[in-house]
Amino acid sequence: MKTYLNTIDGRLVGSEQTFESINPATGEALGRVPISSKRQVAEAIAAARAAQPAWAARPEAERKALMMQVAEVIKGNANYLAEWVTREQGKPLGGIGPDQVPGSRFELWGCEVWTRVPAGLDLPVEVAFEDDTRRDEVHRKPYGVIGAIAPWNWPLLIAVWQIIPSIRAGNTVVIKPSEYTSIGTLELVRLISEVLPKGVVNTISGPGEVGSWLVSDPGIDKIMFTGSGPTGRKIAEAAAKNLVPATLELGGNDAAIVLPDADPKAMAMGLFWGAFLNMGQTCACAKRLYVHESIFEPTVQALQELAQTMPMGNGLDEGTVMGPIQNKMQYDKVVALVESARQAGATIVCGGEPQGGPGYFYPLTLVTGLKDGDRLVDEEQFGPVLPIIKYRDVEEAIASANRLDAGLGASVWSTDVEQAKRVASRIQAGTVWINQHGMIHPMVPFGGIKGSGYGVEFGIEGLKSVTRPQVISIKK
Ligand code: NAD
Repeated sequence: MKTYLNTIDGRLVGSEQTFESINPATGEALGRVPISSKRQVAEAIAAARAAQPAWAARPEAERKALMMQVAEVIKGNANYLAEWVTREQGKPLGGIGPDQVPGSRFELWGCEVWTRVPAGLDLPVEVAFEDDTRRDEVHRKPYGVIGAIAPWNWPLLIAVWQIIPSIRAGNTVVIKPSEYTSIGTLELVRLISEVLPKGVVNTISGPGEVGSWLVSDPGIDKIMFTGSGPTGRKIAEAAAKNLVPATLELGGNDAAIVLPDADPKAMAMGLFWGAFLNMGQTCACAKRLYVHESIFEPTVQALQELAQTMPMGNGLDEGTVMGPIQNKMQYDKVVALVESARQAGATIVCGGEPQGGPGYFYPLTLVTGLKDGDRLVDEEQFGPVLPIIKYRDVEEAIASANRLDAGLGASVWSTDVEQAKRVASRIQAGTVWINQHGMIHPMVPFGGIKGSGYGVEFGIEGLKSVTRPQVISIKK
């Protein structure tokens, strides 16, 4: 079986110890992944540090042009990399058009777009103050070396979100992919490194412990982390120890509120994908649906009709719409949460029965009859299960949306946008979508509040977040 390699200082590097990457649709081993040693983590950081001054000193236009070359590499290898995403992560290959299933090809298209857009952005010098006596300019400087840690749900897209703005701004990067989805990222970085100077992007791989060596190293100037809340807290501690900043994109438990005037049939498809994109394994999926009692039944029915028609299977087979859950831990969590709902007296509208192996397949599941405080409502299920909760008064629904220690996204569904906006402004979340959910965009800042973390990615704000301000103050 092939062993895939890390990229450190432009060289392909293996390790003494390796582990197998597993296909969640079949249980088959796909390849071997190095477990980076502590020494290799230090080497990767040293390589990034050595490469950084020259990288930052390059003229902006040159760095931008190289980033466009990176985008071309991603485009040229999109099929190869999409297949790795499907094999390792499970999502179907799908397509990239608005009417096509958003899967791995969509993820790779996103990687290209989220490379081209930051490549074209500028952070011009801002004049903070000027009068007859002085002029104060704010310049943006790269931090230096960014330590990035990624999760398994959108492995390449999230890696790109961490790598690309960082290098665009003149930083260099050491990234550790999730141990569940390493090969795609190692291959992505191997390929883009062919057009980048050595040491600009480096990878290390292995379990969480390898990530902990990265984030606790004093050679890291800023940490970018996307993953779970408990790990995020450990990362924040490591960042505090070295007094370095961190962007933490953590879990969510997004509420979607359907107002009484919404049209169940018209919104069903948007709600469906808002909840079940990537089998619900998306940080900003709708994970609790609050529906007004006047349209509760038709809304549940419209979602049920969609849920029961989506073909599930191996994502490499064209025509598959839903793949497996990515790993056993997540699968067991989904099974346990649905079981807890059943025991709480909930109605399983559809799904709810594990399908048996091989692969971690679990049917799309809609659950009614639950209330706030029940586990499936209060805990992030991160899987293909949606609790649908009936409410009477919109004040109740807003209170429900705000009661948890999570604040990544939320959505409000209504035919009256002004009314929806009034509700949206009262919801505690980094983004509140109206009549859509999870619709991120490379120019629009994205990030969570409360237990969902801090800092934003994307657009100008995201680019600023991988730079520090430096004031040049001139006496006149
Ligand atoms: P996780 O926290 O288990 O793992 C994420 C990464 O952290 C992995 O690479 C892992 O190896 C590493 N890690 C684990 N322990 C570490 C430590 N002590 N020090 C450093 N690194 C360590 O998360 P996951 O299960 O891979 O991802 C799922 C979670 O991520 C969900 O909660 C989801 O909502 C969240 N998520 C958030 C966003 C967002 O943008 N807010 C996006 C995607 C996923």
